[in-house]
Amino acid sequence: GQIDVVRLVEGVIEATRHLAGEYGVVIESTLPDAPIPIAGNPDELTQVFENLLENACKYGGAGGRIQVSAEQKNPLEEVRVTVRDFGPGIAEEHIPRITERFYRVDVETSRAQKGTGLGLSIVKHILTRHDARLSVRSKPGEGAAFTVHFPPVPPAARG
Ligand code: ATP
Ligand code: MG
Repeated sequence: GQIDVVRLVEGVIEATRHLAGEYGVVIESTLPDAPIPIAGNPDELTQVFENLLENACKYGGAGGRIQVSAEQKNPLEEVRVTVRDFGPGIAEEHIPRITERFYRVDVETSRAQKGTGLGLSIVKHILTRHDARLSVRSKPGEGAAFTVHFPPVPPAARG
């Protein structure tokens, strides 16, 4: 069905504030006032953003804050939701592998955290089913940014 990704992301942010507090992280958001419709399953997409926000807390928590933004430049362009942290980031050679099942970057900061290495493989799987994709940018030492790209719902198909 059609859902408002802005409201969905807001809900995940609220649900993650407690965890963020445990990591000493503040979640900042830049979200539009108007809804942004996307086609998708709300439970699955909630899982996607829960995973990204949890990772940002667990691995990027040292940065003290997380920025979440959502935007669509115009109704015919893709919708982008970005979760950015200011932690240690991810070395370039690891980026292509982090969505593999059970892959965890073997550094102090990662290994110190509980996890199975499945989160991002599930994220990728869910996004593929939504014709969406994940992109990752990172400068080691400056943090990591995970962007989910959704196809637009054409205005004529909105309802
Ligand atoms: P799970 O999500 O199953 O509990 P996990 O968090 O280890 O376990 P993924 O979410 O798939 O698994 O992430 C894979 C690996 O990618 C992590 O173990 C970590 O090494 C790295 N990673 C993910 N997000 C970040 C981030 N924001 N900053 C730095 N490294 C990250
Ligand atoms: Mg994870």
